[in-house]
Amino acid sequence: MEELLRRSEKLTTVGQLAAGVAHEIRNPLTTLRGFLQLQLQTEKLNTRHVDLMLSELDRINLIVGEFLILAKPQATRFEVRDIRFTLGDVISLLDSQAHLCNIVFVTEFGQEDCQISCEENQLKQVFINVLKNAMEAMPQGGQIAITVHRQERQLCVSITDEGIGIPEEKIAKLGDPFYTDKDAGTGLGIMVSQRIIQSHQGIFEIKSKVGVGTTVLITLPLYKADISKT
Ligand code: ADP
Ligand code: MG
Repeated sequence: MEELLRRSEKLTTVGQLAAGVAHEIRNPLTTLRGFLQLQLQTEKLNTRHVDLMLSELDRINLIVGEFLILAKPQATRFEVRDIRFTLGDVISLLDSQAHLCNIVFVTEFGQEDCQISCEENQLKQVFINVLKNAMEAMPQGGQIAITVHRQERQLCVSITDEGIGIPEEKIAKLGDPFYTDKDAGTGLGIMVSQRIIQSHQGIFEIKSKVGVGTTVLITLPLYKADISKT
């Protein structure tokens, strides 16, 4: 219960988020400014400097991009979709990249309708974030199991990897903005995903065992019309 409270506070603390964004964007901006000043004073900007400047600009772009996903409430339109197709689209999108990394996706989708009311592009973003994390956790390759099944009025999606796993003390930090242990990570994927699932009245959970793998469990309410049919 305390954990739930902590989590909801975390998700509503706009100030904390704003401070994080400012900090994360200020760092690359400081670098960019430094290089431009160097150019002004010495006219000695070389290719390496320009490369660094470009990668700092890319980083700002990446961070701002992740936030844009959250920041377009007017464009949000809920539609009824079968989540098996939404997941199928995302899997096809990532399939060739997975293949290159010796990763296979194994799906187990039930035969029953899995309709939910959702903003499909946002849900796609969640699945991309989760599947990418799973892939990044398996540098040697392996299997990612994706299952969808109905449980009373809920729809459960589970995504299980055979990756490095997450130590217990780190699990509580997941979803904190900018929490990452990757060199090129933004530490925003899980936070954005949790927010999107929350806005769909769903639950986003992570279970993990070091050296064994990680399971992300997403529970969403089934579309009402679908329930009355059964
Ligand atoms: P990023 O991927 O940019 O680091 P995320 O918010 O997506 O940011 O993930 C935050 C951190 O959670 C990752 O840096 C990683 O340490 C951990 N993590 C997330 N998913 C997994 C996973 N499937 N296996 C192992 N660690 C994970
Ligand atoms: Mg990620």
